[in-house]
Amino acid sequence: MSQQQHKLILKDLALEIQVSIGNKEKEFLDITGEVAIEDGDQSCINQRSTQLKSEIARLKKRFTEVGKAVRLCDEGEYGYCQACGDDIEPKRLSVRPESFTCVECAEQQERKDKLFS
Ligand SMILES: [Zn+2]
Repeated sequence: MSQQQHKLILKDLALEIQVSIGNKEKEFLDITGEVAIEDGDQSCINQRSTQLKSEIARLKKRFTEVGKAVRLCDEGEYGYCQACGDDIEPKRLSVRPESFTCVECAEQQERKDKLFS
């Protein structure tokens, strides 16, 4: 696949993420704006709003990463591991288009993260 084709996929993905961020933000406003009738409802709402907040944060992080991947396409660098320079496995890119490292480097990074966290 060419960099331009990857870019189209990434842009679609970015749009999709943007839409779901919008939906979740709307739901968040809807439920936090509601006046709860019973205490039970309130804890239910709190639970859901906490969940939504973390989902929105995760989506926003992903959106930033997709944006970064789009820029890599423009530079002709998309699809190469940012750590070792090898090609990133096409299968990995199709599952997670915003991948910046190959499986091997990602696993190494994960081990390092675990070590220092
Ligand atoms: Zn690598």
